[in-house]
Amino acid sequence: MTAHVELRCPVGFRTLFGKLKQAGEKPSIVEGNLLEFACHDCRRNLSRDDKVEVAYVFHRFDFVGDLIESVIRYRDGKEEIL
Ligand SMILES: [Zn+2]
Repeated sequence: MTAHVELRCPVGFRTLFGKLKQAGEKPSIVEGNLLEFACHDCRRNLSRDDKVEVAYVFHRFDFVGDLIESVIRYRDGKEEIL
């Protein structure tokens, strides 16, 4: 059986980053292997709301398609994991 899992931004317009096509049994997760997507919508929203200098916002998914964490990277190099 084939299933499609959508990788989307968790907030706002829920931008679609990609789709996983899975066949057969649900795959298992190997520690540390994540898919990372830069999200322009979240970067724009954070920059506007907080007047902070956000360089990137990344959303990280596992290979089953579950959102694991979001990362804010500021222009000064600091990172915040949500
Ligand atoms: Zn986002």
